Amino acid sequence: MNLFDLSGRVAVVTGGNGGIGLGMARGMAGAGAAVVVAARNREKSEAAVAELTALGVQSAFVALDVAKPASCRAMTAEVLERFGRLDILVNNAGMSIRKPPEAYEDGEWQQVLDTNLNGAFACCQAAYAPMKSHGGGKIINIGSMMSIFGGAYAAPYSTSKGGIVQLTKSLGTAWAKDNIQVNAVLPGWIDTELTQRAREQVPGLNERVLGRTPAGRWGLPNDLSGIAVFLAAPASDFVTGTAIPVDGGYAAEF
Ligand code: NDP
Repeated sequence: MNLFDLSGRVAVVTGGNGGIGLGMARGMAGAGAAVVVAARNREKSEAAVAELTALGVQSAFVALDVAKPASCRAMTAEVLERFGRLDILVNNAGMSIRKPPEAYEDGEWQQVLDTNLNGAFACCQAAYAPMKSHGGGKIINIGSMMSIFGGAYAAPYSTSKGGIVQLTKSLGTAWAKDNIQVNAVLPGWIDTELTQRAREQVPGLNERVLGRTPAGRWGLPNDLSGIAVFLAAPASDFVTGTAIPVDGGYAAEF
């Protein structure tokens, strides 16, 4: 048995059209999984689908606004209709609004929580029955270094990412009996559109990241490919409810 073989499996990556999501999608496609890119931007998603299809697997775009629970349910229903199963769910869609805590308006706080945390829960809930009916599944939730550390300019973001770890523990323990493993990945600083915006908005961020990361570099989206394969594959069948940093040593250093 190849412990890392994903052929015959169907994976959904929310926000899989770029950055970390696409890095994970590439890894799983390379291991043989069909990959659904679920996001809002059709053009960007179709480019990702073309790239994944070129790796020799099936891939499709399904529209999703993860901040709306009904959209999470509709996305899952469409995946089941088109692919017949859903084995792997990567809750990667995320966003941040950067400002001091006292400056947030109600809608802004809600938008970040709805996207990063509530959306992940809605997708997990929608995926549960189809995974259970096929004898099990794999859920990978994307946290952050801000699941561990606070962020002075990211109160709702760090709240949502801390919540992701607790959600992962709760679902991991609840659904272990159904052979559904639920784990979180905590990326360090990865060079993506999200952090390019952060670099523009936070003076000195680039230097701080390089100085604070033991590996001495920004991560790349493809640095997340391997952990996605591991957590999606039979290799991790006894791993659940945990949160694994992929951070060039960031969380290990005082
Ligand atoms: P990107 O901005 O490149 O990707 C974010 C993705 O989320 C986009 O594909 C976007 O697609 C999707 N998205 C955002 N809002 C929604 C929504 N409402 N519904 C559906 N999809 C949505 O950023 P990253 O790749 O950096 O981030 C991916 C994840 O990794 C996020 O959860 C982020 O918090 C996390 N992370 C990133 C780190 C980094 O250093 N880059 C570090 C730690 C965690 P579209 O606009 O088409 O909907």
